[in-house]
Amino acid sequence: MKYQGINLENVKLSNRSSILLLLNNNGAMSRKDIAATVGLTAASVTLICSELIEEGIVVELGEAAEEKRAGRKKILVDINADYRDVLCIAVESDTTYIAVTNLRGKVICNCSIPTDKEADPEQFFKKVTDECQRLFWKNDIARDKVLGAAVTIPGSVDRKKGVSLNSYNIWTDSIPVASYIKKELDVPVVVENNLKAYAQTEIYFGIGRTVNNLFILKWGPGVGASIIVDGKIYQGSNKMAAEIGHMTAVRNGRDCNCGRKGCLETYVSTMAVHEDIKKVLGNDHDYLSDENPLDNPVVRGVIDEKIDTLAHNLRNSISILDPKNVVLIGYMFEIPGCAERFVKAYKQYDPFVADDFFVKSSMPENINHTEGLAVFLNEVLLA
Ligand SMILES: [Zn+2]
Repeated sequence: MKYQGINLENVKLSNRSSILLLLNNNGAMSRKDIAATVGLTAASVTLICSELIEEGIVVELGEAAEEKRAGRKKILVDINADYRDVLCIAVESDTTYIAVTNLRGKVICNCSIPTDKEADPEQFFKKVTDECQRLFWKNDIARDKVLGAAVTIPGSVDRKKGVSLNSYNIWTDSIPVASYIKKELDVPVVVENNLKAYAQTEIYFGIGRTVNNLFILKWGPGVGASIIVDGKIYQGSNKMAAEIGHMTAVRNGRDCNCGRKGCLETYVSTMAVHEDIKKVLGNDHDYLSDENPLDNPVVRGVIDEKIDTLAHNLRNSISILDPKNVVLIGYMFEIPGCAERFVKAYKQYDPFVADDFFVKSSMPENINHTEGLAVFLNEVLLA
């Protein structure tokens, strides 16, 4: 193998990313503290910060409040949240959410359209980019203010190629999502699986800033998970890692979108919950969107049964992976009291679990469907 010298340009780029990542995780810091934390000399930190300030990515914030030595004030620097905007497109089984956010995830404007599974995917994404253009125009967002777009989609995704390989209950074909969007909007486009995007969001904006080994569990219309190992998202060799929804819950059971039978998702998804409630109560009312669904004994009974099945399967996954924490996200965990009942059910399978093992995702990003932002930052600014 031919020896390759260190590429100085790459070293500089990675030092830039280290500084931006530190500021993202820590908030505003002085140049001196940055140097001490990332292990660079004060001179190189000053140089890199000057470049970042000139480009507008970083801003000076004035002086630190607490100061030990009188006369020598520390000037703090921080990421300029409004440097550029990022377009986040979250394709979900029924609805596609479009949002423009700043670099800290603040939603500037948003809209949504139905996910048209019958349409030709290229036509559908043309409709999505038309909506994006309208959103920019209506909100006075100049095109050069948009740094790029992130598309999140269920199922397996080839992030490098920007291709959705199989989104199961949306499209089963491989779809070049990034090239469809780039063709219309002419910005860099990143595509990632939605659960991996949640994981990336935890890494940059949530518990992942301080915890390196995590399991993210989503319970909603789909049941999915994502694994963070040593601060990195585990991909799997077929981009299919952590598909907890497709663990076999019942041998030769219900048909699943993935082509297998008896997958967990077919028994515990919101649709399965709705159907089981309907079997007992005999009507189409959406009991899950009532104010306190668990007050209804039938709904509570159905949900408790699903909770038990999910807790059982989670316990088996956790005993293999041994993460520090499990992050609970998704529609079902938002139902008042549901997450607490889930933790209680889990303890039936593992009485030794620590009290703070489960954490609820507290990020507004998930509610706003802007989980793509973290993926985009990972590709463009913080990687
Ligand atoms: Zn399946």
